[in-house]
Amino acid sequence: MKKNLFEYPLPALEEEMLAQGQTRYRARQLYEWIYVKRILSFEAMTDVSKAFRATLESDYCLDLPRIFRRQDASDGTLKLLLEMADGSKVETVLMRYDYGNVVCVSSEVGCNMGCAFCASGLLKKERGLQASEMVGEVYLMNQLLAEEGERVSHIVVMGTGEPFDNYDELMKFIRVMNEAKGFAIGARHITVSTCGLVDGIDKYGKEGLQINLAISLHAPSDEIRKKIMPIASRYDLKDLLAAVKRYEDAGGRRVTFEYILLKGVNDSLACADELSDLIRGTLAYVNLIPYNPVKEKPFERSPEKTVRAFADRLMKRGVNCTVRKEFGTDIDAACGQLRVKYERAKK
Ligand code: SAH
Repeated sequence: MKKNLFEYPLPALEEEMLAQGQTRYRARQLYEWIYVKRILSFEAMTDVSKAFRATLESDYCLDLPRIFRRQDASDGTLKLLLEMADGSKVETVLMRYDYGNVVCVSSEVGCNMGCAFCASGLLKKERGLQASEMVGEVYLMNQLLAEEGERVSHIVVMGTGEPFDNYDELMKFIRVMNEAKGFAIGARHITVSTCGLVDGIDKYGKEGLQINLAISLHAPSDEIRKKIMPIASRYDLKDLLAAVKRYEDAGGRRVTFEYILLKGVNDSLACADELSDLIRGTLAYVNLIPYNPVKEKPFERSPEKTVRAFADRLMKRGVNCTVRKEFGTDIDAACGQLRVKYERAKK
């Protein structure tokens, strides 16, 4: 089977080229063609010898997922349903912030975390995505943006799946995207969001990358958290916060806590007080997420007034917070709404 070049971080591609009797420089040339010039035909890579182009043609490929369906929201948000080589499908979203073009990447086909409020877990995990497939999500969005003279500037791994449940492929993907001689998305422009896998947080802290980490907290106490997030029965808040502390002490960047406001579940002022007591002492700040309705789920969005009051209370108690801006609700592209819902779509 041909090897997909999208699978290789630069150091790995250098090794691969050495094994082919080429120089490391060959790998850097390929990186420039693929990620800087955005050329995917080996034939067109004219500074590579003809003989080696023939080897590339016979042993390697640059396969991308297929765009199965495209949906454009009224606010410019774009959602792609992508089909992988084995027929698996995942969604990828492009959000246009004033500071740049942000791609929300899926990391798995389905998800096993089972959060009670999220649509993505309605399909159980079938498999983790390969690095090349995640690279493909961003690469395809970038090709579309290039038609408008723009490019992808930020990546958030907040689509379907739990990224730390697919750790090794995730890190390969990040290294490809972050490579200065290639796609060159700065570490500070990349964010990974986890529901709180403590072993993943510990490993991530040792990678030596200045990538952002977001943690889906969603509750101020184990009691409430266990009701909405099964992962809370594996790691309690004490374990989770100790991991955050270790991460910060190891030189990681400031952590963001994500907190969905669910009406009557976790949105009282008492919850805000409990939350501020819980995270005081970390450098973290809180990103409040208005709940996006999912038809199969019993939850309701907190009223805007409640969201404001909750935010004000946190601020008053010295916790920095922001309310997340929403994108693409009219095409089910907002947080927690991603799922593969294509059965009725026409091909
Ligand atoms: N598994 C990772 C990545 C998914 S990120 C994680 O849990 O962090 C997507 C973010 O959206 C998470 O914070 C998730 O909890 C949140 N989310 C899930 N369902 C949502 C919904 N219906 N409305 C708003 N946010 C939701």
